Amino acid sequence: LIRFEDVRKEFRNQTVAVDDLDLEVRKGELLVLVGPSGCGKSTTLRMVNRLVEPTGGRILLDGADIMSTDAVALRRRVGYVIQNVGLFPHKTVAQNVATVPGLLGWDRKRTRARVEELLTLVGLAPETYSKRFPHELSGGERQRVGVARALAVDPPVLLMDEPFGAVDPEGRRRLQTEFRRIQSELGTTVMLVTHDIDEAVLLGDRVAVFSKGGIIEQIDTPLRLLSQPANAFVENFIGAGR
Ligand code: ATP
Ligand code: MG
Repeated sequence: LIRFEDVRKEFRNQTVAVDDLDLEVRKGELLVLVGPSGCGKSTTLRMVNRLVEPTGGRILLDGADIMSTDAVALRRRVGYVIQNVGLFPHKTVAQNVATVPGLLGWDRKRTRARVEELLTLVGLAPETYSKRFPHELSGGERQRVGVARALAVDPPVLLMDEPFGAVDPEGRRRLQTEFRRIQSELGTTVMLVTHDIDEAVLLGDRVAVFSKGGIIEQIDTPLRLLSQPANAFVENFIGAGR
């Protein structure tokens, strides 16, 4: 569904964040990206919804080059969850979740029902949370709202950058399991970045291990990743997560 062909991103300060990236994400698959800090994982995600433009190669979504797709239309199909940032501070929780339905012109009743459904799904009781503003939430609650917002219109593709990082361990497991269930039910194609090995193993159909400069060292099944660590980073990562 998503195909990176020889993709490169060099920032203006000459940092090469991603180089020679060839990667295929299959339809309905949940692909986990892991790798050391600064190795280009977030940059890779952001190129898919054109928050960052590649400086070389191309990215195809459903066979079409994303650079010739209208960015707004693209972002309706590609949901994005980031850590901490991203909620509109002047909008309530319900208004945040209703952002994309609003853009698509859903009527009030349908939007309201969907917002309640999603908030319940991510473990935030609508009657308690709907009318709050982001500054009235904990970090973990904000992340849950971010996940709910990204799921609002069932986007076929979801980019998730450490989406559950700020959620406490117990809530995180529940949210992960719940998320995995809806993801496979809806057939959503997901690219998810994490530093949490348990999360990679629990959620991933495959795991792509990045090394410095956004170069993919290998793609593997989560189980193989555990039994045969490919390199020092992976070993360290597994060691640190257990
Ligand atoms: P982390 O695990 O810490 O989130 P990451 O793998 O997501 O790291 P990226 O954010 O993709 O890493 O950054 C890759 C490299 O590109 C880093 O060296 C970073 O400093 C650089 N970089 C990222 N964004 C920019 C930017 N807007 N301008 C210049 N350099 C950038
Ligand atoms: Mg990052």
